[in-house]
Amino acid sequence: MSDKPLDGRVAIVTGSSRAGGIGRGICQVLGLDGAKVVVSDIGHALEGAPDYHVAGPGELGETVEILRGLGVDAIGVSCDVTVPADVEALVAAAVSHFGRLDIFVNNAGVATESVEMIYVTERALSLTLDVNLKGTFFGVQSAARQMIRQGGGGRIINIASQAGKVAWPLLSAYSASKFGIIGMTQVAAKELGLHAITVNAVCPGTVETPLSNSADGVWSMYARYYGISENEVKVSTLAQIPLGRLQTPEDVGNAVAFLASDRGGYLTGTAISTTGGQTMI
Ligand code: NAD
Repeated sequence: MSDKPLDGRVAIVTGSSRAGGIGRGICQVLGLDGAKVVVSDIGHALEGAPDYHVAGPGELGETVEILRGLGVDAIGVSCDVTVPADVEALVAAAVSHFGRLDIFVNNAGVATESVEMIYVTERALSLTLDVNLKGTFFGVQSAARQMIRQGGGGRIINIASQAGKVAWPLLSAYSASKFGIIGMTQVAAKELGLHAITVNAVCPGTVETPLSNSADGVWSMYARYYGISENEVKVSTLAQIPLGRLQTPEDVGNAVAFLASDRGGYLTGTAISTTGGQTMI
């Protein structure tokens, strides 16, 4: 008999198919801990931001194959989290295939603006709030409805950010969305406690993803803003992290897996900083 901490649980992770992304890392950790995993992603360009990087259609199948190669029972389901009916259909697909839903991770997110607040367009603000804040809201709603229907409780985990706790320049819309996620997490935790559903946020710090190193990434964004080189941004970022290294998607996955496990059962309404100490609140 297997004794993995998440044996028999069914997990959905939104926005989880990009190679090197946090969502794929979360899926791997949950799957290796015994969960059956529903990988989900948008699979088409974002309306209003056709050039913004999102997962392509092939990445969903690729992530599922990687998980199956690791021995994880996984399926892939397309879902645009900004569309409530899509999120409902995602939950329905998980229940139809695996019979239940125990863990729902709201991971899908965008960071489309990289300019000072006074230059952020209404379109960029709306897109960020639609995906990060409203998408997470819809995820909490659909997951909680199913968990209440089936009984026995559940775990909802929202990926926020250290930028949801403290300010970073050039991230005004993103920060608004992530502060909002933490507030919404607390309300949901209060309302859903009587159903034995815990709701928590995980707040990553500086994660090394393909995006960090791209032309739109965090290094080049702050290099432009402070008038220094990308390497100088990296060095000063590392100096702010007591553990002396950038975060990996698996570091985020480990916190998610803990919150999803029996050992995380008495935490609700929290926002755990997985930042290597970069942000300590
Ligand atoms: P990423 O861009 O690699 O992943 C985001 C995923 O969300 C992509 O797979 C994308 O296709 C998906 N997505 C975008 N819009 C969507 C929509 N409308 N519906 C469904 N899926 C959609 O970025 P990441 O760094 O892996 O970020 C994952 C999460 O972690 C995000 O919520 C992000 O805000 C958060 N985060 C990231 C960092 C970091 O340093 N990378 C730090 C703190 C928090």
